[in-house]
Amino acid sequence: MQTNNLTKKYLLDYSREEVYPFVQTLGMESYRGDQIFKGMYVQLLSDFTNLTTLSRSLRDKLNHAVTLRTLQLKEQTISVNEDTVKFLWSLHDGLKIESVIIYKGKRVTFCISSQVGCALDCKFCTTGKMGFLRNLSSGEIVEQVLLMKQKAKRPATNIVFMGMGEPLLNLKNVLKASYILADPEGLAFSQKRITISTSGIAPAIRKLADSGAPFSLAVSLNAVFEEFRKKIMPISKNFPLNLLMKSVHYYISKTKKRVTFEYILIRKKNDTKEDADQFIKLTRDIPCKINLIPCNSDDPAYPPSTTETIQWFADYLHDRGRTTIVRQRKGWEIKAACGQLYANNETKIGKKISDNMRKKDKNTI
Ligand code: SAH
Ligand code: SF4
Repeated sequence: MQTNNLTKKYLLDYSREEVYPFVQTLGMESYRGDQIFKGMYVQLLSDFTNLTTLSRSLRDKLNHAVTLRTLQLKEQTISVNEDTVKFLWSLHDGLKIESVIIYKGKRVTFCISSQVGCALDCKFCTTGKMGFLRNLSSGEIVEQVLLMKQKAKRPATNIVFMGMGEPLLNLKNVLKASYILADPEGLAFSQKRITISTSGIAPAIRKLADSGAPFSLAVSLNAVFEEFRKKIMPISKNFPLNLLMKSVHYYISKTKKRVTFEYILIRKKNDTKEDADQFIKLTRDIPCKINLIPCNSDDPAYPPSTTETIQWFADYLHDRGRTTIVRQRKGWEIKAACGQLYANNETKIGKKISDNMRKKDKNTI
């Protein structure tokens, strides 16, 4: 459990199994844990005042000892066609993060953050410009979902760790939060519809495979040639493409699941026939789905591929047996699209991988 400077215990940091012994420490019988957990995740209570299955004195005791909300909504922005809603939250220590709801047909995707900022400094990504400030606790991850659930027009069909941060560098809390969200006694969210997206932390992909976690994995490939990948994703210097692909093979052999490859298309940089051929080569024997995303960067050095090229690239992969989807830009004008999440944390300057690499062993991050 991450310590925070709150005076009360933050009960969203607790799994159901941890809630039972905790309520005992307050002098309650452990079966009360079920009522409390249901109150948190089925009734979506923000405190225990209305948990009428408990006596008034037990409710008061709980309210005195624990808190269920630490995120404060600072800003809510809705796109013109109302298919994207972005939330800016302030955390208990004043740092800020963002989360997004995306409506597309029957799909309702909650895009959540795993860290405040991100250290990995991918050149096309606005979150990378923040640097890394801290990991989110499992409760802070869960709370984003609870608060958005109360705001959403329809229930979420998918939860994706594609907001701020690199989830595999906060694996423990990301997994704990995912298990809590999927707890059948609580929100009971579908395990396979929770997707963890990584820029390619190869050892953590192996660890995830070994953990037997039932969630889905997306790998942000973004480049199929090492030289270019290193240029746009500095993490590739630590975990080169061949190592990354080996870890993906390991993940697949271990879990028997397919992975999703995310690939941003940058005009004339990674959208040529050579790139498409190399993509086919790299993904041979990998059961996968490919999501192509027109690059959303404000930086003129990273313009999106043309519509024709995007279609050509998608068809080329598709004709060679790869399930390929072009992700439409959603929430571009409100800066809620992939890679556009940014929270101004005033004077706080986050750490970047490039700072570390100057100091440390290149194989560690
Ligand atoms: N750190 C994780 C998850 C957060 S980023 C990761 O990198 O996978 C979520 C997705 O946004 C990634 O697939 C990333 O490649 C994509 N992304 C980042 N910047 C982007 C941009 N400018 N345009 C389109 N997609 C972008
Ligand atoms: Fe971090 Fe992902 Fe952005 Fe790269 S793309 S800087 S890993 S959030």
